[in-house]
Amino acid sequence: MLAAMPPTPPSAPERGEARIRDRGDACPGALRLHTADDGRLARLRLPAGRLTARQIETLAHAAESLGDGRISLTSRGNAELRGLAEGCGAELAALLAEAGLLPSPTHERVRNIVASPAAGLDGLGGPEVQLWARELDELLCAEPWTAALSGRFLFVLDDGRGDVAGLGGDVTLVAVERGSSSVSSASFSSSALLYVGGRAFRVGGADAPRAALAAAGAFLDAAREAGNGAWRVRELPAECAPDVAGALDRAGIAAEPVPAAESLLVLGPPPAPGPLGPTALYVLAPLGRLTAAQLRALLPAEEVRLTPWRGAVVVGATAEAGRLAGLTSYGLITRPDSPWAGVTACTGLPGCAKSLADVRADAHPGALGLPVHYSGCERRCGHPHGTWVDVVATADGAYLVDGAPIPRTALPEAVTTARTTTPATTTTR
Ligand code: SF4
Repeated sequence: MLAAMPPTPPSAPERGEARIRDRGDACPGALRLHTADDGRLARLRLPAGRLTARQIETLAHAAESLGDGRISLTSRGNAELRGLAEGCGAELAALLAEAGLLPSPTHERVRNIVASPAAGLDGLGGPEVQLWARELDELLCAEPWTAALSGRFLFVLDDGRGDVAGLGGDVTLVAVERGSSSVSSASFSSSALLYVGGRAFRVGGADAPRAALAAAGAFLDAAREAGNGAWRVRELPAECAPDVAGALDRAGIAAEPVPAAESLLVLGPPPAPGPLGPTALYVLAPLGRLTAAQLRALLPAEEVRLTPWRGAVVVGATAEAGRLAGLTSYGLITRPDSPWAGVTACTGLPGCAKSLADVRADAHPGALGLPVHYSGCERRCGHPHGTWVDVVATADGAYLVDGAPIPRTALPEAVTTARTTTPATTTTR
C-alpha cells in the first residue's frame, strides 16, 4: 500500500447521541437546486467521476447556456453548475437526461461513489474497481429502497493503492492484493475487503458491488432502529451498529469477518499532474473550477474521470503530439511542480452569503508543498482530507493561517511558510 502522506484516521464515531436531526438532508442535486447568492446551484453525482465525451459537451453547454459558464469540481469528484437562472430546472434536467446523466430521477442524489481514478491505467492496484463502480451505480438505481439514503452517504472503492480509502466512506471496498508487497495490477486477486462502521469482511471480487449495496441496506435498517435521523454510519449510536454480516448472509454473499484494520484506511498520495500510465493524462483544475472551454479542452478522450482532488484523468490521451502543452495553454495544471497544485478554495464571496471574503481572488499558492485550502468562514466547505494548510477569512478582513492571524497582504509569505513546514505543525482533520 502506498502512503506517502500521513495517515488520516477515520472520523471518530459520535456515539450515544440523542436524535441528531428531524429532517431529511438538504443536499443539492441535479433536480433539487440550491439557492445561493450567485443564483441557483445544481450538483451532479458522477459515479467514479466518469464522464463520456458527449456528457462533457452537455455539461459545457449547460454551464454556458444556463449557468455562469463554469463547472466546479467537488471533493467527491462530482460536478456543480452555479449561477443558474431561476426557472431553468426543467431545461437542465432535460439536457442531463438526454446525455445519460440522470439515469434515475429518484436516485440522482444517492449515487455518491468515489473510486480510484487511475485504476486500470497505470499498472497499479486492482483495475476492476472502475467496473465495481458502474455495477454498484446500476444496483443503487435499480432498488427503490436505496432512494432513502441521504445525499451525503458515501461509497468509496479503492483499488488497493490507498489513494481514496481514507476519504471517509460510509461503505468502503478495498481491492485485495494476493500476498505480494507490490501493488501492481498483476498481484491482485479478485477479492475485496468491505469496511463499514469499524467492521471488516473479505468478500469475492464478483460480489463486491452487491456486498456494498447490502451494507448500505444494513445501515438504513440500523438508522430506522436508532431513530436518530442519522445520515451517515458514524452518526449511529453504538447500540445500533449495522448488522452487515446478517445483510451479507441474506444477500447470499459469502463473507469472512476479518480484523477491521482501520490503519489500512490511510490516505495515499493522489496522482501527480502529467502523464498517467501509457494511455492517460492527469490535469488539475485551478482552484477546482473549469471554464466550459477548459472542460471541452479535455476532448478528445475515451472518457474523463473527475477526481476528489479537483482534477480530471483524460483516458485515451498521451503526452505526445503536444496534447499536454495544449492543455497547459488552457490554463490547466499539468505539472507536479506547479505551486497551484494542491491549492483549493471554497466558493466564498460573492457566491456564498456566509463568506467573509472573496477567497478565490485572495488565494495565493505560496510555494509548492502541503495542500492548502482557503475558506470564507469556519465551515471550511470542501476542505481536503489528510494534512493541509488551513486558511480562513476573518471578520476584520484578515485571515487565520493554521490559526495564526495574518494580514491579507502577508498571505503569500505565510502560506509559503506553512506549506513548506513539516506536517507535525500543520492542520490535520
Ligand atoms: S466555507 Fe463558509 S464561506 Fe465558504 S462556501 Fe462554506 S459556508 Fe460559504
